[in-house]
Amino acid sequence: MMLDYNTLLVSLGVSTLCLLLTLLGTWMARRGDGFLLTWVIGLFFLVAGIFSYSYYTTNIDPVLGSLCCSLMLIGFAIIHAAGYQFRTGGSPVMYTVVGSCFSIALTVPPMLAGFDGLGFVGLNVGAMLLLLGAAREYWKARPEAPGPLTGMAVLYGVTAASFLLCGLMLISLGQWKLGHAPDNWSENLNVAICIAGMTGIGAMSLMVHQARITALHRHEAMTDGLTGLANRRALFDKHLGHSFTDKMAVIVFDIDRFKSINDQYGHAVGDRVIQALADDLRNATGVVTAARLGGEEFAVVLLQAQAGYAEWVAEKIRRNFADRNIQSGGMQVRATVSAGIAYGAEWGETFEAMLSSADSALYDAKRGGRNRVETAMPSSGDTRTTA
Ligand code: GH3
Ligand code: MG
Ligand code: MG
Repeated sequence: MMLDYNTLLVSLGVSTLCLLLTLLGTWMARRGDGFLLTWVIGLFFLVAGIFSYSYYTTNIDPVLGSLCCSLMLIGFAIIHAAGYQFRTGGSPVMYTVVGSCFSIALTVPPMLAGFDGLGFVGLNVGAMLLLLGAAREYWKARPEAPGPLTGMAVLYGVTAASFLLCGLMLISLGQWKLGHAPDNWSENLNVAICIAGMTGIGAMSLMVHQARITALHRHEAMTDGLTGLANRRALFDKHLGHSFTDKMAVIVFDIDRFKSINDQYGHAVGDRVIQALADDLRNATGVVTAARLGGEEFAVVLLQAQAGYAEWVAEKIRRNFADRNIQSGGMQVRATVSAGIAYGAEWGETFEAMLSSADSALYDAKRGGRNRVETAMPSSGDTRTTA
């Protein structure tokens, strides 16, 4: 009724190998996620362990037994470490070394001393602990992608349980010295669960990897490369459709005579000046969104702005920036910025109208001599200052 044990083992080896190749291919396509590569290396050790164990079942030898147990345990230790790496981004090396040494110490000494049954108990206990460790990592990481990560934690847990069962079987049978590979129903169950578990875990690893790539692409599409601020698209995504009351404001900034900074010092220095203003905007108080609209133009959104508050924020940014020595390539550059402010209206103003009012106020600030802040007249789009 049951498949022959060795056939099961070979199926496990082959399916793990296929999984290894799939994940390796996925990792190579985009070498971002280190955890996937760590996983692949772990699988490599597992495959080597599984095939050598299959060989061991017909060629009993304590040294060979120790070797295949060690290979499998190193594989599980790396897989646990990959889970840690996935969750924290930290290096997997420490957990690999500690996990391998600890579990091998449980297994190899009794096996070499002739107590192969006890050695297999050690293998099962070591594998169980490492798999539980992996389950714990994915369980902790589950807010990132609850479905697949919970699934992975459960599958690791179930696989761990099947190893525990194998260990308990050996203990309950008192098989401290075997002279052959462990041979009872729990072993077959264990291999079957490993095949299903590893396949499921592999598929879900691909899912979380894909989810990470998608999130990264989305972040990149919304971020300005030079400054790290939100880009124009992100700004519109966030605020288009909002209704701006008179307690909300948009400020637009444009660096003064920026062309001449570029001409005088070069484009790279110009870029530094843009980054300097971006840093000021990012750190400004009260700012909900700071975005680079393009070139040397920026917008910030204030969602809690009593009358006069936006002027205070803009004026502070303007003054700070004008006082600042911007270092670039051994040069010190000074620049100024002009700003235009628009407050919303009691009945609610659209985001486009806010931007266009702020823009016309900015235009007035430029005409008024630059390095200054102007505010658009409420709702009319005109500015308070007369030209
Ligand atoms: P104004 O005071 O009226 O704003 O004068 P301005 O020279 O700043 O005029 P304008 O805003 O039209 O100039 C924008 C310049 O910014 C033109 C373009 O060469 C430069 N620029 C646009 N994007 C970048 C960039 O990413 N890096 C650098 N270094 N320069 C840029
Ligand atoms: Mg300019
Ligand atoms: Mg400009």
